[in-house]
Amino acid sequence: MSARNERPHVVIVGGGFGGLNAARALADEPVRVTLVDRRNHHLFQPLLYQVATAALNPSDIATPLRSILRSAANVAVLLAPVESVDLASGRLTLDEGTLAYDALILAVGAGNSYFGHDDWESLAPSLKTLEDAIEIRRRVLLAYEEAEREQDGAEQRALLTSVVIGGGPTGVELAGALAEISRETIARDFRAIDPTKARIVLVEASPRVLHTFPDPLPARAAAALTRIGVEVRTGTSVTRVTPDAVWLGGEQIRARTVLWAAGVAAAPLTRTLGVPVDRAGRVLVAPDLSVPDHPEVFVIGDACALTGPDGQPLPGLAPVAIQQGRAAALNVLRRLRGQPTRPFSYHDRGSMATIGRAAAVAAIGRVRLSGLPAWLAWLFVHIAFLIGFRNRFLVLFQWAWAYLSWQRGARLITYPWRPRK
Ligand SMILES: Cc1cc2nc3c(=O)[nH]c(=O)nc-3n(C[C@H](O)[C@H](O)[C@H](O)COP(=O)(O)OP(=O)(O)OC[C@H]3O[C@@H](n4cnc5c(N)ncnc54)[C@H](O)[C@@H]3O)c2cc1C
Repeated sequence: MSARNERPHVVIVGGGFGGLNAARALADEPVRVTLVDRRNHHLFQPLLYQVATAALNPSDIATPLRSILRSAANVAVLLAPVESVDLASGRLTLDEGTLAYDALILAVGAGNSYFGHDDWESLAPSLKTLEDAIEIRRRVLLAYEEAEREQDGAEQRALLTSVVIGGGPTGVELAGALAEISRETIARDFRAIDPTKARIVLVEASPRVLHTFPDPLPARAAAALTRIGVEVRTGTSVTRVTPDAVWLGGEQIRARTVLWAAGVAAAPLTRTLGVPVDRAGRVLVAPDLSVPDHPEVFVIGDACALTGPDGQPLPGLAPVAIQQGRAAALNVLRRLRGQPTRPFSYHDRGSMATIGRAAAVAAIGRVRLSGLPAWLAWLFVHIAFLIGFRNRFLVLFQWAWAYLSWQRGARLITYPWRPRK
């Protein structure tokens, strides 16, 4: 074995916000790092809406992991799905073969939970990956195309109805973006149908949208959605989803586009650890982000559950994953040096959600913003973020300019028509 190979081997699973920042923090340190991901790219999830609603292209928000980590000579990237973790032997099982580690950082993120209704998944896709965004784009754009050709009035109305299930930031942003497409982007592009009459319904089981945001932002978000033509149905649960309808108890809404933004669950890999997890499958980590009784294993980001100083679980947000990635990497190095690890402490810089053209809500410290100031804050934060990992700010700048200067439809292309399943 070469001297290089005798260095401790740190394996990071997941090249999202948490894993990528852990890898960067370990670059040029006296460790050998392998970053394993089943995808070859880092995905900037906060801009997935813009891909789903055709404002950005997939390549605008994804960057190959190899190119991001090109200059980190001690970091290797491996494209492979990890199937299970064996804590006792310190080995991962990949689709082919195994990989041993001296220290492990699991940053596998979260997927969606359909609350026991797994059959709804194909009827109501959610937004998590580029494939999801492209599928949603396909469904949304083709529904308008089909409606243009449809002779039957009731069927045409169903084609022009979208239901978004879940009123958190994802649902609010999706509903806002759908309203904007119909009211503005394609408003004058069809002849047989009037896209501005499209019905967009946002269904949320709790009494208000954005319920984790402080007052008065939930009410302002609901008002902004209503202004752009979204029907906001709070305190209402979806009881059934069929290929052409959503049921709210006894009420049926005929809709050909149904999108899911309601439930999140940690990536299934966390369950293979055989350690305590919460109801969403997130690993209950120690304050230093390690797995209890396994100080060599750390779980971070959306895959872990850690309580913040206010007694509430830390939110599933990019800044939490980024800060935890750096903290876990430092704790790995401290352990290897024989030093005590440090508890993780989250520096909350606020939360924000966009609602549509130049509209957003933002809570930054004690400051509450809505409307254009919040949207500009959102834009500034996202540009700053993008510069952090790749110089993509031009993409966002061009998009923002097109957005504010009302340039329409430039990216409204989709894949060929194919019959619905
Ligand atoms: C549509 C959307 C919008 C969002 N908007 C915002 C926002 O505006 N602001 C904000 O702060 N946060 C936002 N978030 C949340 C934010 O993106 C997440 O909190 C963050 O990505 C979590 O980082 P992570 O590293 O834990 O996981 P992720 O970034 O999800 O990365 C997980 C990685 O693990 C890989 N992986 C998973 N399982 C395996 C396996 N078995 N084998 C190999 N690789 C695996 C995946 O391919 C992925 O690359 C949004 C999320 C979504 C879905």
